[in-house]
Amino acid sequence: MAKEQAKQQKEAIRQTVDALDGQLRAIAQRIHANPELSFHEHQAQGWLTEPLEEAGFQVEKGIAGLPTSFRATWEGSGSEPTVALLAEYDALPAIGHACGHNLIGTAAVGAALALKEACPELPGKIIVLGTPAEEEGGGKIIMCNEGVFDAIDAVMMVHPQNKTMVLRGALACVDATFTFHGRQAHASSAPEKGISALDAMINAFVAINSLRQFMKEDVRVHGIITKGGDAPNVVPELCEAVFILRAANVEELKTVREKVYRAVRHAAEGVEAAVDITEGLIYAERNNNRALAGMFRDNLEQLGIEVVEPPAKGGIGSSDIGNVGQVTATIHPYIRLGDATTHTPEFCRLAGAEEGMIELNQAAKAMAMTAYDLCTDAEAFTQVRQEFEQWKQERNGGAIHG
Ligand SMILES: [Zn+2]
Ligand SMILES: [Zn+2]
Repeated sequence: MAKEQAKQQKEAIRQTVDALDGQLRAIAQRIHANPELSFHEHQAQGWLTEPLEEAGFQVEKGIAGLPTSFRATWEGSGSEPTVALLAEYDALPAIGHACGHNLIGTAAVGAALALKEACPELPGKIIVLGTPAEEEGGGKIIMCNEGVFDAIDAVMMVHPQNKTMVLRGALACVDATFTFHGRQAHASSAPEKGISALDAMINAFVAINSLRQFMKEDVRVHGIITKGGDAPNVVPELCEAVFILRAANVEELKTVREKVYRAVRHAAEGVEAAVDITEGLIYAERNNNRALAGMFRDNLEQLGIEVVEPPAKGGIGSSDIGNVGQVTATIHPYIRLGDATTHTPEFCRLAGAEEGMIELNQAAKAMAMTAYDLCTDAEAFTQVRQEFEQWKQERNGGAIHG
């Protein structure tokens, strides 16, 4: 009986997403045509919240001190669980929506609208969280630190990709700026009066390269020079490099940071220069909730979408969703929209084309169906919670034993 009801309700959800398709396409294409950079997504915030407001969601803009964030809540019956669907909507400099965040944001809105319309009696609470600045700024990390995810039982978002995958990992990471200070002098007539910030920086690159042989396989340390001096006949006084350091998890990342920073300091010291190290936010590794991912996978299969396994090694970056996964049960599955890889002009084209619109429709359906399962299948929800609680205990236990 319950199964039959679930089947009917999910069919109603799918039909409602299809009925909303034209409206959702218009939003996704408008965001795509007007790319806004991290923390500046004002238009996208308006376009995504408007239909939610109209549908009776309670909309708060600018939560967690981030002006372009939002929280749209449908209280439902007020009982457990509270499910959050995450909307990203920031673009990349120069290449626009080459990560397809126009589709991520719109899919979350579409799923929430369909749930409210198709299942007005749904037990549980549905929240669409507008999480700005994924590409640059770690919006979700700030929102985590402000406690936005504390009272949420399960979180999901869907990212477009060149493969449909539910359990892909991601590395912990941090960015670090190294500012080297030397002393200016005429490079020919009085070099003995100078201290070269550039030599300090070059030595730092060499020292970091010397560490690579002794780093774990999944560690990544990659940097660029952002300031390298002003004139070849002046000993450079100020040079700067920006690096990103990545490791399997935050614990491993600590070790990598210590090694790299020590190498950088000694490189500066060796030529009598000084160095300032400033760090960005720490991105945690991804913590996929397997039980929730299994539910999502079942719904993808019900939609006739083929799921592939992520590569056993490599092929991963970092994202602020990792920090959310440290606070509550979280998934970050991917749905294929073509062959191109993210952050390329071709991916940007796909995110605004028919391929993107199909992915959007599929993502909205799969998320709404999975949220429906979470709210109506007590056993499945308990498994999701228990898996997260067990992970937390193991993590805390691990920390105590050092
Ligand atoms: Zn991206
Ligand atoms: Zn992205």
